[in-house]
Amino acid sequence: MLLKDALNYGKVSTGNTKMPGTTYAIDAFACQTGSRLANIDGTPCRHCYARKLQKLRPSVDAGWKANLNKWNAAEPDQWAQAIAFQIIKRNTDGYHRWFDAGDLQSVEMLDAIVAVCRMTPRVRHWLPTQERRIVAEWLAINGQFPDNLIVRVSASKLNGALPKGATHGSQVYTRDAAPKGKVCEARQRGNQCGPCRACWSHDVALISYPKH
Ligand code: SF4
Repeated sequence: MLLKDALNYGKVSTGNTKMPGTTYAIDAFACQTGSRLANIDGTPCRHCYARKLQKLRPSVDAGWKANLNKWNAAEPDQWAQAIAFQIIKRNTDGYHRWFDAGDLQSVEMLDAIVAVCRMTPRVRHWLPTQERRIVAEWLAINGQFPDNLIVRVSASKLNGALPKGATHGSQVYTRDAAPKGKVCEARQRGNQCGPCRACWSHDVALISYPKH
């Protein structure tokens, strides 16, 4: 496969200034659960940074929408091969983040992502999601995720606990509340992960992000 052919299925990005490795994003306005939460005060999606960025920067908006359109038009097997190809080609440090914008669209999409993880065994994958139903359905059919994939189910409310039934999750906490999990210290490092890889770690059940 050539890179130009793989890009027909969507773009794996490098150069996220916060975190190591590669990332993949889609249109944040297409989030299913997130779009409902965005209308509700007291949820982490209420003031979604990704949506703000899409409104501010048309090129970002176009890129994330194009990624979603390409997923929708693709055969999942071919999509998985093309995305895995890009991760193998472009990822130099072994960490990939799914959905720095957007979220899972279907069980079929999660299945294709798992296929990507299996094709990239040397890369650790982190997938944050509000789509607990999709995750539960996939697990009911397939049992467990590959070892190199951490799916973190996000608490739907600010200051929420680890969602029921999830082994790994994340929460956003406010200034007036105590964090319930391992605190993300990226902000103290100029909004960079630095040496921290907690989000990719099996040993960290819950990550707590301070509210922006
Ligand atoms: S917890 Fe660590 S790995 Fe996760 S976003 Fe914060 S700094 Fe990065």
